[in-house]
Amino acid sequence: MKIGFIGLGNMGGPMASNLAAAGHEVTGFDPIAPYPEGVAQARSGMEAARGRDVVITMLPDGEILRAVAAEIVPAMATGTVFLDCSTVDVDSARAVAAQAEKAGLLPLDAPVSGGIGGAAAGTLTFMVGGTGEAFDMALPLFEVMGQKSVHCGPSGNGQAAKICNNMILGVTMIATCEAFALADKLGLDRQAMFDVVSTSSGSSWSMNAYCPAPGIGPESPADHGYKPGFAAELMLKDLRLSQQAATAVDADTPMGKAARDLYECFVEQEGGKGRDFSAMLPRFETRGRG
Ligand code: NAD
Repeated sequence: MKIGFIGLGNMGGPMASNLAAAGHEVTGFDPIAPYPEGVAQARSGMEAARGRDVVITMLPDGEILRAVAAEIVPAMATGTVFLDCSTVDVDSARAVAAQAEKAGLLPLDAPVSGGIGGAAAGTLTFMVGGTGEAFDMALPLFEVMGQKSVHCGPSGNGQAAKICNNMILGVTMIATCEAFALADKLGLDRQAMFDVVSTSSGSSWSMNAYCPAPGIGPESPADHGYKPGFAAELMLKDLRLSQQAATAVDADTPMGKAARDLYECFVEQEGGKGRDFSAMLPRFETRGRG
């Protein structure tokens, strides 16, 4: 396929590189990031989008996505796919999809999980909103860039799935970290705590696969001084999106709100920026109730 790829940062760069390595003709645009091998350089987003079968965007936020969409939608041919893989607010995803549909394009919102490692290895998971027709056209590309893609329903539902998943993740990571810190103070050995919880009803991905305690469980960022992994500020971004969406639809999400507030404090006031999101454990270790 002829693919335009706009936003070649930490995630977009390796994703574009994998598409080129799989034999697709990839033309990219990014004002700052380096161009991966095999990706032709366009001089603008519009130039990267013109004449392509599929245009992929991997951008920082909804505002930038809206600006890029305004530039590229008029340049794209009817019946081609506009595949946004960025994590953005549901409203921006739906507004951009409506604009693309009006122009005769097939829009998809397909945020990913799996991080930079998954982008490089081609093992991302895609959560996809849009029509079945658009999903089927993009499926061969999901299969190159990832190992799983789930069609979640109409436009915006990919973003909805992503923020709901990450709201659960933020809440369970905090719960796991505060429980470890309590267990420490109660004199419970961390290995014993892991052995019990990981096989009991308190188990979760945060405990079992990404244990925040160094030296316990499978290897995780805790074993490397909490170098990300999944940075606390990216978790904060997703928790903010979840609360923005909850406000928009009047959903009561007290745990999601508490998680957003805690990560906000951690990132903005307690030096959590640049640390893995599981570094909540050393934060709790040093605190009392007051
Ligand atoms: P990044 O900042 O490394 O990359 C974004 C790129 O977009 C940058 O290179 C920037 O120059 C480029 N850009 C900005 N404005 C542009 C424009 N007008 N035209 C073209 N390019 C433009 O961010 P990233 O880590 O690659 O993340 C991208 C998206 O993926 C974000 O929405 C993020 O939330 C999401 N995401 C990231 C991770 C992760 O672990 N990094 C995991 C899952 C999802």
